[in-house]
Amino acid sequence: MSSRAKIRLYVEHPLGAGQTVPLSRDQAHYLFGVMRQGVGAPVALFNGSQGEWTAEVEEAGKRAGVLACRQQAAPQVSPPDLWLLFAPIKKARTDFIVEKATELGAARILPVQTDFTNAERVRQDRLQAHAIEAAEQCGGTYVPPVEELQRLDRVLAGWPADRHLIFCDESLVGARAALDAAPDGEKWAILIGPVGGFSEAERARLRALPGCTAISLGPRILRADTAAVAALTLFQATRGDW
Ligand code: SAM
Repeated sequence: MSSRAKIRLYVEHPLGAGQTVPLSRDQAHYLFGVMRQGVGAPVALFNGSQGEWTAEVEEAGKRAGVLACRQQAAPQVSPPDLWLLFAPIKKARTDFIVEKATELGAARILPVQTDFTNAERVRQDRLQAHAIEAAEQCGGTYVPPVEELQRLDRVLAGWPADRHLIFCDESLVGARAALDAAPDGEKWAILIGPVGGFSEAERARLRALPGCTAISLGPRILRADTAAVAALTLFQATRGDW
């Protein structure tokens, strides 16, 4: 290869030496129309499970194109088994949460409808596209799946016994309730509430859930998007992959 690939693309296609990869219409538009690349240009590809591969443009068209994989540039690195459950808030702030959760290494993102959640629906496809864009930009080789909006009570009803839930409870603001109170484990989830916080019924339900630890995120009430970033940072720095 003559030069190192600066452009990274996520593709839903197997990667391997000699493997050709067709581009979607949007990717062809981005690569050839927006980024002005042509035949022979290097591109870094990842598909979420086979690491990063250096590829070269073989065919370039306005609405389509083909890349050819040359060699693996980085191995697959997946984040710890950490889910982020959060109650969707305003559109731009919800987008921010998905973007930051991807950069910070959430393995799965679950929007949940709580008693005080205002949003009735989320555009799952748009949020998934944000996660892909964030992974492309941050150099990661993993894209967390973003689920459809589900009711929190239903999610808790089917909660897996082997997954520990870190419940960020604003009623503990300023209290000494830190993440180190949670036991060791391999499977984790963080729960962040909406602008209005959690209802007393939810709080009681969560506290009764086996394997749930309620924690404080310090002496100030954080906005939900800040709280998501703070909790993920805290986890990754103490129990995760930092
Ligand atoms: N309306 C709530 C109140 O005034 O108490 C605040 C909700 S806060 C904007 C949104 C979410 O962020 C909370 O439900 C919680 O999950 C998390 N959060 C914010 N600050 C927190 C803190 N100091 N400790 C624990 N969780 C916090």
